[in-house]
Amino acid sequence: MQYYSTNGQSPKVGLQEAVVHGLASDRGLFMPEIIPTIPKAFFKNISEMTLQEIAYVVANTLFGQDVESETLKNIVYDTLNFDIPLVHVDENRYSLELFHGPTLAFKDVGARFMARLLGYFNQKDGKDVVNVLVATSGDTGSAVANGFLNVPGVKVYVLYPKGKVSKIQEAQFTTLGANITALEVNGTFDDCQALVKSAFMDKELNEKMQLTSANSINVARFLPQMFYYFYAYAQLAKMGKPLDKIVVSVPSGNFGNITAGLIGKRMGLPISRFIAANNKNDIVYQYLNTGVYSPRPSIATIANAMDVGDPSNFARILDLYQNSHSKISSEISGFTYTDEQIAETLADTYKKTGYLLDPHGAVGYRSLLEGLKPDEIGVFLETAHPAKFKETVELIINAKVSIPAKLAAFMKGTKSTIKMTTSFNAFKKFLMNE
Ligand SMILES: *Cc1c(COP(=O)(O)O)cnc(C)c1O
Repeated sequence: MQYYSTNGQSPKVGLQEAVVHGLASDRGLFMPEIIPTIPKAFFKNISEMTLQEIAYVVANTLFGQDVESETLKNIVYDTLNFDIPLVHVDENRYSLELFHGPTLAFKDVGARFMARLLGYFNQKDGKDVVNVLVATSGDTGSAVANGFLNVPGVKVYVLYPKGKVSKIQEAQFTTLGANITALEVNGTFDDCQALVKSAFMDKELNEKMQLTSANSINVARFLPQMFYYFYAYAQLAKMGKPLDKIVVSVPSGNFGNITAGLIGKRMGLPISRFIAANNKNDIVYQYLNTGVYSPRPSIATIANAMDVGDPSNFARILDLYQNSHSKISSEISGFTYTDEQIAETLADTYKKTGYLLDPHGAVGYRSLLEGLKPDEIGVFLETAHPAKFKETVELIINAKVSIPAKLAAFMKGTKSTIKMTTSFNAFKKFLMNE
C-alpha cells in the first residue's frame, strides 16, 4: 500500500517510510492511497470473535501487503493483550472503556502498535537506531514511553514541561530507564513542542540521526485506533442489540481517534454517524456549524488532553471527504461543553448511575445525552481512567477515587530526568552527543 500526502506536493511512499518519517516531506499528513473494504461476511460472525481476532483481520486488510502475516499477527496480539469492554451506562448509552491498557488511556493502543511495527522494520533492515521525539502535556508521553520500552533499535526522548504534569503522569515516563529518556524542560508544553518541531526541521541533526514522531500524525499510531470501533460493534452484536443505528461519540482533541473511526466506517463498519465531542476548544464544532475553520490558541480546561487549538488530523478529515462541508457535516455532528458542564455531567452521572466518568469521557457521554435519538444506540469512547485525573475528579464528586494497582506501581519507581532549558541550541547539542 502506498501513502500520499494531504498536501499533495510530495511523492507517495510505502508503509515503512511513512512510519519512519511520520510527516511527509511537504509537511502534509500521510493517507492510505486505497481504503480497502472488508467483506460483508466478516460482520456476520463478528460477535463470535475476540478483540485480537477482529483487530488482526482489520490490520491485515490495511497492512497485509507490507508486513508478513505471522509478524503482523504477533504485533496485533501483543499490542492488544488487554480487554476493551463495552459497558452499559444507562438506557441506550454504552461506554467503550479504552483504559485497561498499561497507562490507562486509549493512546496505549496506537503507541504499542507503532512501537512494535517500528521495531520490526528496524530489525528487518538492520538500520540505524530510530529516535522518537515526543512532546507531552501528560498522556501521550506515558503511552509512548511505555509502548516503546525495550523495543530494540528505538530510542525515545520525552520532553515535558517541568512542574506542569501530574505526579502520576510524570512517574509514568520518568522512572522507566532503558531506552526511554525524559527531558524536563524549564518552560511550557508549547516550548516542548517548539523544540521538537525545530529538531525535525534541522538539517544537520536529521543528517546525523533518524528522527520520527509518535504523535497521531504517524499512520502507525492513528490507524490501529480503528480496531476498537469494530470491537464495539461486535459487542453490541453479541448483546443482540439492533445494529443499524449505531452512533459513536468521540471526545476529541487532535482528532486522530475519530478519524480512525471514520476510516473504519469507509472500510465497511456499519456505524450510522459520529459525534465530535469538544470542550471549549471548539474549532471543529464551529466548522461543522458554519463551514469556516479558524484555528486559535488553545484554552486550558479540565479535559486537558483535548486542549488543542488547531487539530492536526483535521487535514485528514477534509481529505477523506474531498473538502466538502456538506459531506462532513452529514456524517459528523458536534457538541461543545464548558468546564462547569463537564463537572456537572460527571457528578450527575455518578450520582444517578454509579458510573464514574473521567472529564474527557464526560464530554462524550453528555453529547449522547443531548444528541442521541431514542431509536439509536449510542457508544461513547471512555478515553482514560478517572484515576488519571484524581484531584479533579475527587473535587467534583466529593469522594475519594482509588488508584488502580497498575497506576500505583509507577509511583514506586525512581525519577530520573535530564534538565533542559527552552534553548534549541542546547537541545540540539544534547542530541548530537547522544
Ligand atoms: C489524547 C486524548 C484525547 C484526544 O484524542 P485525539 O485523538 O487527539 O482527538 C481524548 N481523551 C484523552 C484522555 C486523551 O488522552
